[in-house]
Amino acid sequence: MADLPEREGMDYDAVVVGAGPAGLAAAIHLKQRNPDISVVLVEKGSEVGAHILSGAVIDPIGLDRLVPEWREDPERPLKTAVTEDRFYYLGPAGGIRLPNIMMPPLMSNHGNFVGSLGNVTRYLATKAESLGVEIYPGFAATEVLFDEKGAVRGIATGDMGIDRDGTLKSEFTRGMELRGKYTLFAEGARGSLSKELIKRFGLAEGREPQKFGIGLKELWQVTPDKFKAGLVQHTFGWPLDSTTGGGSFLYQFDDNYVVVGFVVHLNYSNPTLSPFDEFQRFKTHPFIRETFAGGKRLSYGARAITEGGWQSVPKLVFPGGALIGCAAGFINLPRIKGSHNAILSGMLAAEQVAAALAAGRANDVLSDYEAAWRGTDIGRDLKRVRNVKPLWSRFGLFGGVALGGFDMWLNQLFGFSLFGTLKHGKPDHATLKPIDQVKVLTYPKPDGVLTFDKLSSVFISNTNHEEDQPVHLKLTDPAIPIKDNLPRYGEPARLYCPAGVYEVVYGDEAAKTDPRFVINAQNCVHCKTCDIKDPAQNINWVPPEGGGGPNYPNM
Ligand SMILES: Cc1cc2nc3c(=O)[nH]c(=O)nc-3n(C[C@H](O)[C@H](O)[C@H](O)COP(=O)(O)OP(=O)(O)OC[C@H]3O[C@@H](n4cnc5c(N)ncnc54)[C@H](O)[C@@H]3O)c2cc1C
Ligand code: SF4
Repeated sequence: MADLPEREGMDYDAVVVGAGPAGLAAAIHLKQRNPDISVVLVEKGSEVGAHILSGAVIDPIGLDRLVPEWREDPERPLKTAVTEDRFYYLGPAGGIRLPNIMMPPLMSNHGNFVGSLGNVTRYLATKAESLGVEIYPGFAATEVLFDEKGAVRGIATGDMGIDRDGTLKSEFTRGMELRGKYTLFAEGARGSLSKELIKRFGLAEGREPQKFGIGLKELWQVTPDKFKAGLVQHTFGWPLDSTTGGGSFLYQFDDNYVVVGFVVHLNYSNPTLSPFDEFQRFKTHPFIRETFAGGKRLSYGARAITEGGWQSVPKLVFPGGALIGCAAGFINLPRIKGSHNAILSGMLAAEQVAAALAAGRANDVLSDYEAAWRGTDIGRDLKRVRNVKPLWSRFGLFGGVALGGFDMWLNQLFGFSLFGTLKHGKPDHATLKPIDQVKVLTYPKPDGVLTFDKLSSVFISNTNHEEDQPVHLKLTDPAIPIKDNLPRYGEPARLYCPAGVYEVVYGDEAAKTDPRFVINAQNCVHCKTCDIKDPAQNINWVPPEGGGGPNYPNM
């Protein structure tokens, strides 16, 4: 590539990467602490909310603290309170409803709201802008800037206008340096810069590996007779086998909207499993399919979700910055909730940044943030469910769910666990078995009414990338997919990618000779699953040109 011109730069007190609930809460709270603090926030989606995908049943604890007047606001993004909570265990043809009385109170959704987290972030963005935060959607942070002592001094946004081979196009525009006294990384699960920072500063040392799931979601508008505002339903069991963790969610809100989603824990072992097809199959269950009869599917998307919890949260701070929200991994897995902790962690970090700035400090370590979080509501929320995921991983569906439930009751009633703090074991990329040691899974063809294929699904995620740009899914060794992954695992990227980005095509399809690994990068919905699950850790997800990716309306 030709020598690039110098980047222009701008200086701020605080730089925030990512306009999810964590980043927006941090930006708003900095201004609430001191309106004179200058704050800039970059977001890789074409607009705030475009890349946000969540359930969502939202615990309002974070929103109540950040925007205390939100409940009276006619423009509020959450209007449907939870009215009913249901839990089911599903078998192939039926299921059992678990009595709510069996559930520890911490699992109750009473007092929570159902809605679109994307719309919550759009609402928070208007609040942030009205306080003077500069928000730049369509700009991905692609590089962390370091000073001569190795402290973070901001980020650079990506260059625009480079073709697939790396040649500068006529419309080439150099990225900008956004320099800050403190930089907060709010990139969500498996953030690309956060991953580099965790490695560079050894932030995960002494912690359990982060664990992940892939969450797939569709938004439907159903007929009024099928709709029950505020109904929140979760299932586990079918179609997953008892050794594969995961389950479904189905939430109903606003104008006959029903969200249906499915989470598969990424420590699954069968490389022929396709999370997308498990999700499609789930919708055909007799307890589920009726809800969608006569309805219309409006949107589709997928996103990784952190699952490691209390024992996997890395060290949060390093010179010049901090990780907030799901970039650190503050999800309470049994509750499938993290947006409240994302907001609370953004606020907590903002308080430490504001205090440091008031003391005339810059680009040093925000140690009080690291010291504080385990003693806050975030820590309390995560600590009491810390063994649920490891118990499920060790004992499978029946033993794991029963022991996990017992453990949550003990924690809730007496504040302790018989198990101490269990380890998670292997990282998710190391859990696949070779294909010759598993039962090969096959999936029914979609009917185009209730079940769909990947490409028609990606179409309604409104995913769009400039096609003539460098591929943003970087293979460290381009030979590995065909040389190692194909014979050993059948190249699982073909199946775990929820957007059909990866294919193995053969010179002679019938004879299966001359295989080639093809990356359809333009379909990528930015879920980050490939970066997590590739058994060789050979795929590095980096941000494509800003503004590319899904354009979720209200996910
Ligand atoms: C399927 C699913 C269901 C869920 N259900 C619920 C639920 O019901 N209730 C609940 O409370 N939580 C739920 N969660 C979890 C919740 O969505 C997360 O906890 C929450 O979104 C985390 O907020 P965040 O701000 O840390 O990250 P995110 O919401 O992921 O936001 C990160 C933002 O940063 C942007 N970004 C990332 N990298 C860059 C970069 N380099 N440059 C610029 N911008 C960047 C992204 O585009 C995105 O807009 C669910 C998650 C999933 C996946
Ligand atoms: S390429 Fe990777 S990040 Fe993109 S949709 Fe597929 S698995 Fe997700």
